[in-house]
Amino acid sequence: MAVDRERLKAHAAAEVEAHRQELIDLSLRIHDNPETGLQEERASAWLCEYLEKQGFQVERGICGLPTAFRATVGSGEPRIAFLAEYDALPDIGHACGHNIIGTAAVAAGLGVRGVLDSTGGSVVVIGTPAEEIVGGKVIMARQGAFADLDAAMLTHPGSRDAVHSRALACAPLEVEYFGRESHAAARPEAGVNALDALILAYNAISALRQHIRGSARVHGVITDGGRAPNVVPDHSAASFLVRAEDEAYLEDLKAKVIACFEAGARASGARLEYRWSENQFAAMRSNGPLAEAHKANLAPLGRQTPDDQPRRALGSTDMGNVSALVPAIHPTIAVAPREVSIHSREFAACAASEEGHRGLLDAAKAMAMTAIDILTDADLRQRMQEEFLASP
Ligand SMILES: [Zn+2]
Ligand SMILES: [Zn+2]
Repeated sequence: MAVDRERLKAHAAAEVEAHRQELIDLSLRIHDNPETGLQEERASAWLCEYLEKQGFQVERGICGLPTAFRATVGSGEPRIAFLAEYDALPDIGHACGHNIIGTAAVAAGLGVRGVLDSTGGSVVVIGTPAEEIVGGKVIMARQGAFADLDAAMLTHPGSRDAVHSRALACAPLEVEYFGRESHAAARPEAGVNALDALILAYNAISALRQHIRGSARVHGVITDGGRAPNVVPDHSAASFLVRAEDEAYLEDLKAKVIACFEAGARASGARLEYRWSENQFAAMRSNGPLAEAHKANLAPLGRQTPDDQPRRALGSTDMGNVSALVPAIHPTIAVAPREVSIHSREFAACAASEEGHRGLLDAAKAMAMTAIDILTDADLRQRMQEEFLASP
């Protein structure tokens, strides 16, 4: 029996609309109570309570992360995931609009819930903490949180509508130098200057930057440069991020960056210690057939999206690690004017505005409709899987 896909989609959109005010209130409550990564206790609790009230089975604190959760409705396959984020930034609150991401994931789940009797399969809303700092999804991916999924979606608010997104693979690096302190004027010859080592390395990296691919990024800050001008610093430290469009080039670049730090050690005599984070972000792989389906669902909501991948990658996201395991998309929904950048106070205001609410509801409806496509269209599922297996 052929399912009436359009009727199911209309039902899902109406379900989201029916909960409009509750969803906006939920988004605003998270926005007004910003919590940074791994501290998102209230946001996570509010989202879980709401999902439970709506008939989802909720597991809290999964993967050893107290603010992670998994909420399921329906049973068996296909299994579609909507990923929630809800962490804020220090000082500037929800300047990345994760209140919208978290609430839209819950709302999309709500939309699909009512049609699962007709379609079969299940929907999971997965709460993924600390996108901004440690990359909760990297930890959760290692623990198999995304292993049993047929598709994963997350819509990020931004200043344009887009179905494809590019994000760089990213390796965080911590560096320290150990030298020998001495009086900077009376006995400079007895000192080994750990700050000099770091400055030499910093400048070597600045020179390297001229000769790397245009899409790659290396940037960092000095977190310890000594304490007193009359003491030769015996310790210095820095945090760096190395980013590239693919994992192979990232590995090349990591080796070049370490060579710069070794040069600083060699020239100054200070000893180098460094540590790559085990939470390396993978590049985002946007699934073509899934993105196409999503594009077709955004259009009737009045949101036209460009066909091709954006030319520039915008930073990195731990959704990349999910996209390495399962067909995934990370679309953006416009909630702010073009000139407003995420991670700004202006954007934080947009994430709580009428445009923000509209973005939240449209994102939820479109994701719910795309989930219905996946649940009811075996050919789409096969094309998604083929592209996923073929992509590097
Ligand atoms: Zn952000
Ligand atoms: Zn973000």
